[in-house]
Amino acid sequence: MPAQILDGKKIAAEVRAEVKEEVSRLKAEGINPGLAVVLVGEDPASQVYVRNKHRACEEVGIYSEVHRLPAATSQAELLKLIDQLNKDPKIHGILVQLPLPDHIDEKKVIDAIALEKDVDGFSPANVGNLVIGDKCFYPCTPHGCMVLLEKAGIDPKGKKAVVVGRSNIVGKPVAMMLLARHATVTICHSRTRDLAAECRQADILIAAVGKPELITGDMIKEGAVVIDVGINRVGEKKLVGDVHFESAAQKAGWITPVPGGVGPMTIAMLLKNTVEAARR
Ligand code: NDP
Repeated sequence: MPAQILDGKKIAAEVRAEVKEEVSRLKAEGINPGLAVVLVGEDPASQVYVRNKHRACEEVGIYSEVHRLPAATSQAELLKLIDQLNKDPKIHGILVQLPLPDHIDEKKVIDAIALEKDVDGFSPANVGNLVIGDKCFYPCTPHGCMVLLEKAGIDPKGKKAVVVGRSNIVGKPVAMMLLARHATVTICHSRTRDLAAECRQADILIAAVGKPELITGDMIKEGAVVIDVGINRVGEKKLVGDVHFESAAQKAGWITPVPGGVGPMTIAMLLKNTVEAARR
């Protein structure tokens, strides 16, 4: 039987509606949640992401300001802006759109964001808290994956989860979150000896690789939940995931489409974290 679709677009809309209600409640208490987004340079993809984030904030009633800085901005100038935003009581969340130009040390900039405003969840201190199970912000894309699982009624407890990819923004944090939810977790990467064999063990398979349709139906266990984080452009217009959807959907119990799976969840989780930051 073909897999059921985990509809990220629909679930993200539900999350946004919940956030909108929470924003109204906060406003009634005199708290106006605010997000600052910082964009350095003119990377076209980053401009689209920033515009979408700003628009999503407006739709749920979150105050948002976008700081667009020229590509030649110095690291010192950027750090000064972060410092101002850290102190600004209107702003509860700060997001620096990555990648930054080469002359700026990304790590230094992310680390400069106040921990209580790090709604992207990328700072070393936040990641440390995630690992030890302390209060933290869940990074948006991994958090989106977990909410998709939850909405499908899938409890990771005791299940075998395989995460393909070990990046700091997706693979590692999602593995930690699955572990915290009591899954038995395997993390695969480019040096994994037999990727297919590892994947075939998975009750929950998360693909965050960035290689178009790397994971095919024969690598999937019957009935598995498949979450495809990958966004790969092939040809002029077509977007595909890291999973070969047609063959995988013949084996999986649940599967996310690309587009319309994890993608829409990422921004919804950013809104959720911003409201959470304001609530705290
Ligand atoms: P990275 O390039 O940072 O990491 C990719 C990971 O995949 C690395 O750990 C790499 O291993 C591993 N890998 C590469 N090739 C193979 C292979 N053949 N077999 C097994 N593992 C392999 O990517 P990101 O984590 O940033 O992103 C992954 C994908 O998710 C991309 O398509 C990106 O566009 C998408 N994405 C989507 C988001 C969304 O909102 N939906 C948000 C963020 C990302 P190694 O460490 O050994 O090099």
